[in-house]
Amino acid sequence: MSTFFDLGVAEPIRRALTASSYQEPTPIQSRAIPLLLEGRDLLGIAQTGTGKTAAFALPILQRLAEQAPRRGRGPAALVLTPTRELAVQVAAAFKTYGRYLNLRGAVLYGGVGQVPQVRALRSGLDYLVATPGRLLDLMEQGHAQLGQVSLLVLDEADRMLDMGFIRDIRRILAALPRKRQSMLLSATMPAEIARLANSMLDNPARVEVAPTGTAVERVDQRVFHIATARKRALLSELLRDPDMRRVIVFTRTKHGANRVAAQLAETGVSAAAIHGNKSQAARQNALDDFRSGRSRVLVATDIAARGIDVEGVTHIVNYELPNVPETYVHRIGRTARAGAAGSALSFCDTAERPYLRDIETLVRRSIEVIEAPRTVGSGPRAAHPIAPKAETKAPVRPAQPKRRRRPRSGGRPASQAAA
Ligand code: AMP
Repeated sequence: MSTFFDLGVAEPIRRALTASSYQEPTPIQSRAIPLLLEGRDLLGIAQTGTGKTAAFALPILQRLAEQAPRRGRGPAALVLTPTRELAVQVAAAFKTYGRYLNLRGAVLYGGVGQVPQVRALRSGLDYLVATPGRLLDLMEQGHAQLGQVSLLVLDEADRMLDMGFIRDIRRILAALPRKRQSMLLSATMPAEIARLANSMLDNPARVEVAPTGTAVERVDQRVFHIATARKRALLSELLRDPDMRRVIVFTRTKHGANRVAAQLAETGVSAAAIHGNKSQAARQNALDDFRSGRSRVLVATDIAARGIDVEGVTHIVNYELPNVPETYVHRIGRTARAGAAGSALSFCDTAERPYLRDIETLVRRSIEVIEAPRTVGSGPRAAHPIAPKAETKAPVRPAQPKRRRRPRSGGRPASQAAA
């Protein structure tokens, strides 16, 4: 087992890691950090949750710290991300890991005024985290000069492709110096990303890591068979459980997200909604409230939830099942991050049964059926609360036949015993 010291990470950064309670490197960190400190290019095949951000951020910070201060100069490191939320998150990670270094960074994304971003660019930067659209805009207006970039990261490249950013990326790459160290990270390797990797990386080290147990293995998953009209009551009932401390509720539509958030607010549950119709500022506020615990529940559509990494999400609720089964796996991967436990609860009405079957085929297991509490009115047999606890590590369970009753018992506060 290696330590950050063994990997060659310098003292001020190690101090920051200790402050963040990182005890040991994750597999992608162990493999990528020494190669990057040597100056190699990297092709990293890894998902969020593996610690990929620190895998590139730590060596970049270390290299930047070794260079001269850059007051009044263009950035030496550039990180491109597909979404604004991921950009903010990556910039926050740089700040956290670099807290004992004297480095300047900025984050650029669209949907907000550009004046503060232009000001930041003028003041001189060590690193810049940006989404492609806004960066190109500012480049075209002559505000962003990238002639000094010697370290480049393309994060979540497959999402860039999904979101139609590949042409923008190629235009940005064309404006960068050829002599540089480049890193491309992607959860999957479709042909177009492989081609992009070929063109932008020079003899890269390839590091591929499986997520630390896939979400499907890590997350405790249950499904309620429940009529649409009763989903609202079921959600309220479940949320009486104080163990549901930090909950993301997924809906299929923006309208649905607003409705669920409003209904929760009516019952006194602090909830915020994020979806594509909200302004960037409103989305960021909702996320900040959720991260800080001011909102206990975040109601989200799938697109809005892309790239979001909030620590300590105890439960995912699929208020509506997605019709694309892979989306289910993305959703449940928002809990049980970095070794923590987590639960996913799905509400399935009759019309959604085929979606459930598709999901079970994809995850190659049947999802345990759990009865709704009788107060919610799902039938006379129901006597079971409620949300599975998220404190204990979710067991890796093999495929099981569907069961009608919860197999575990005990350990539940009396207040939760419904009916
Ligand atoms: P990422 O895959 O970069 O999105 O990181 C997933 C989560 O793991 C983030 O919340 C990080 O703060 C956390 N993390 C990354 N590296 C470590 C580590 N070595 N020890 C503990 N947590 C970590």
